[in-house]
Amino acid sequence: MTTGTQINYYFTCHRKLWLFGNGIQMEHNSELVAMGKLIHETSYTDRPERFQEVEIGPVKIDFYDRRDKVIHEVKKSDKLEESHRWQVKYYIYIMEQAGIVGVTGLLEYPKLRHTEEVLLTDSDREQLEIIVADITRIIASESCPPAVTMGICKNCSYFDFCYASED
Ligand code: SF4
Repeated sequence: MTTGTQINYYFTCHRKLWLFGNGIQMEHNSELVAMGKLIHETSYTDRPERFQEVEIGPVKIDFYDRRDKVIHEVKKSDKLEESHRWQVKYYIYIMEQAGIVGVTGLLEYPKLRHTEEVLLTDSDREQLEIIVADITRIIASESCPPAVTMGICKNCSYFDFCYASED
């Protein structure tokens, strides 16, 4: 089943999605991931106790406010805001499918002191069905999508892999 990370990568880079979806993972070596974990640990030590970690099928939500039915998703930078938004929409969608309705999301950028509410519309639900089917198709493909040089490549954990393999 599709994970939140795969939704994120779908909007970031299809090559990254294919590599990750086929078990080639390098994220644990990434300094960015270490930085992200640090943000979680240092900025949110005073999170209310009612915020829980929730796992539903393929998705893991770090901070769910059960009382107010709000998913809190913490990110370092808002450069990839569209992918972040769809990741949270997908979490809401998965919760709905599990029978938990009326959930909203809140994207939080503590370093930027910025938050954004995320809602799931009927059009998003239809779009997510298409996105999930497309993700399944991309990952199942025999060939890895080509590397496309983008601004995000230099901070991507697959950078060496992508550019070494082009030699
Ligand atoms: S380095 Fe660039 S092309 Fe390669 S997976 Fe990462 S974002 Fe995609």
